This record gives sequence, C-alpha cells and structure tokens, in this order.
Amino acid sequence: MQATIVLKAGKERPLLRRHPWIYSNAVDSVEGKVYPGSTVHVVDHGRKFIAKALYSPSSQIRARVLTWDEAEPIDHAFFKRRISKAIEHRRTWIKNTNAIRLIFGESDGLPGLIVDQYNDTLVCQFLFIGVEYWKDAIVAALAQQTNCSAIVERSDAAVRAREGLEKHIGALKGDLPAEPIQVNECGVLYTVDVLQGHKTGFYIDQRDSRELVGQLSKDKEVLNMFCYTGGFSLAALKGGAKHVASVDSSGEALAMAQRQMKLNQFEESRATWIDDDAFNVLTKFRKEEKRFDLVVLDPPKFAPSSHHLDKALRAYKEINRAGMQLLNPGGLLFTFSCSGAVDAALFERTIAMASAEAMSHSGDKSMDFRVLKRLSSGLDHPLLASFPEGDYLKGLLLQRV
Ligand code: SAH
Repeated sequence: MQATIVLKAGKERPLLRRHPWIYSNAVDSVEGKVYPGSTVHVVDHGRKFIAKALYSPSSQIRARVLTWDEAEPIDHAFFKRRISKAIEHRRTWIKNTNAIRLIFGESDGLPGLIVDQYNDTLVCQFLFIGVEYWKDAIVAALAQQTNCSAIVERSDAAVRAREGLEKHIGALKGDLPAEPIQVNECGVLYTVDVLQGHKTGFYIDQRDSRELVGQLSKDKEVLNMFCYTGGFSLAALKGGAKHVASVDSSGEALAMAQRQMKLNQFEESRATWIDDDAFNVLTKFRKEEKRFDLVVLDPPKFAPSSHHLDKALRAYKEINRAGMQLLNPGGLLFTFSCSGAVDAALFERTIAMASAEAMSHSGDKSMDFRVLKRLSSGLDHPLLASFPEGDYLKGLLLQRV
C-alpha cells in the first residue's frame, strides 16, 4: 500500500498555491507504513493527489514536497536531475567568484539541503530528515557533477534537533581541510573556515552588497559593525577606502580578518579592528562625535523566532539610529536584517522610526535620510515565489541628505 498523508478539509489550500510544507496540524491521517524520510503521497480530504513528499515524524513540518507530478518517481535519478539543474543555474549566472551557494534548499526543489562551494570543496548541510535519508544519492550526484576534491558535511545547525537528527560534522568525500580554504571573490581573497566558521564558513549571501560597498568606498572613512571575518571591510579596502574601522565581539573572527589583510597585502594602517560589544562602541563613538562616510550594520539574527520580535525590533532601531547619527552629510548606510521573523516591510518601518529618532536626537532640522536601494542576497539564492521563508536577508542602502 502506498504510504499516504490525508489532509484535513481545507488544509490543502497552501499546497495548491505550491507552498512546499505540510504542517502536522494539517494532517488528518497517515495511511500505510511510514518511517523517517519515506516518500509519501499527499492527498486532499477527497483523496485527490496533490504532491509527493518526504516524511518527518518528529517535526512540526511533517512532510516537505519534492514534486507536484504524480508521474515523477523519487529515486536516485530525481536527485541527480534537481542537482544538475541547480548547478546549471549557477554556471549561467554567477561569475567572478569561487564561493557560491550551489543548492538553496526549497528554492532549488531540494528541501532542507544547503550546498556551498568554496573553490574545490563543497560544504553540505542536511537540515531535514528527508534529505538525510537520500544523503548517499545526493553526495554521489554532487561528486559526479562537480570537480570537487572534497565534500564536507556541516550538519550542526540547531534545526536538526527538530528533525530528530543529531549534529554531525565530517568528510563525505576526500579529507577534511587541514586549514581554512582560500577563495577569490571579485579580486578579494578570503579564507573560509568550513569546519568552525558561521553557517558553512562564510556569508556568501552578502556578495552583491560587498561588491557595492567596494564600489562606493573610494577615499571614504568606513565603519563596519558586526564585521565577523571582515567581509565588508576587505571589500571596502579593495575599493580604495581611506580607512576602515571594524567591530566584532569575537576575537577569533577578528584574528582571521587580520590574516586576510596580509593575504591581500593591504597596508595595516588602513584598518582598525575593535574587539568589543557593538552597542558600547556605537554609544562611545556618538559621545566622541566620530563621523564616517560609509557605515555597514550587519548584525546577527536578532529575532531567531517571532517570540523575540519586540526585543529584536528595539535592537534594530537602536543600532540604526546610532549608525545614522555617525554619518557625515551625504554619508551612506548599508543596513541589514537576516531575521526570518522580520519581513521587508517591517524592517523598513523600523528603519523609518530609527531615522526619525536620529533626526530628532541630533537637533539638526536639515538632517534626512533617503533609501537609495533595496538589498538582498545574490542570484545563487533564488527565491521561489511560493516560498517567502526563503527570503530571510533584507537590506537597505540609505543616504544622509
Ligand atoms: N557582517 C558579517 C556577518 C555578521 S555575523 C559578514 O558579512 O561576514 C554577526 C557577527 O556579529 C558575528 O561575527 C558575531 O561575533 C557578532 N556579534 C554578535 N553580537 C555582537 C555584539 N553585541 N557586539 C559585537 N559583535 C557582535
């Protein structure tokens, strides 16, 4: 008997709009033999076929859709096709870098699977039991379709627990890299610690904004808050910034950033690295009346879920107000939020409030801010129109006028 999820009446609606998740509270009954990762047919209350999905017994997201086509089998060839399509998209669109998101989960039709390429090493995150179940097929297809010398698993994200999965880090092909991997993005060399760095080691999703920071940094005084390993700082230095001050509370990340300065042969005196709390530094700089021509605010996820929303919005407002007050007239602010719970509209409203406060606190009636550009992740992070959850990174480029 074909394992089948029967939905409660009316609960098929999001699926008919092609949202690929089946929540546990939408499930009326489960028929046939199911196990973690098994392929199930999803049918509506009248037993009409909707999709084929992979089953996750312990998660609130009880199953994730792989195909809407009843005739498409879920087998090794299926994963090979999806992976090849994802890679082809990147080959068409992504140039000037060898740090690329090859597979972006649901958006590439491979739910819960992240694969990043750093030079000739791939780093995978299996964040859903369905792709964990098909790991061998996925790894075989990746090895066959890329010339990578190593495939590393970085399945240590907290969401694994919700799938009933343990954390796991190890080599899936070749050896674990003995040292950070060097990549070249738009002429800047970065080193990526794929074993211990954040996510898979690098914020690939900020590539387009790094490039823009580089283009706008010539002869500027730059401040990069929450700099991590200095992605924006190095892009600004490459773009000819006069001086870049970078702040992070992780000494290790700053040490790596400084090693990359040497690798790129940037003069040490052009950069200052500050190991401190960002909120303290912003307050201190404001008191000292420091001014910058370009400020980057790319904080950690202040709202890991909607429960943290109020506190997170206060934090976004505070750092943005402070960042705005440090700008010279004509100065630029790159500001971001990677909190899924804060959508673009809410982020923009928060920034509007921050700018109103910055203007009133400064006492300068002529101070104003305008949005020059909305910012997001690059073309290797495609978004499914039916899956807004994929749109986690939003940013704005503002100018003080
Ligand atoms: N902008 C970075 C990514 C930022 S990740 C890039 O483009 O690579 C968030 C960073 O904020 C982390 O490096 C973390 O160490 C730092 N961080 C978190 N809380 C902080 C705080 N209160 N003060 C300073 N840095 C903080």
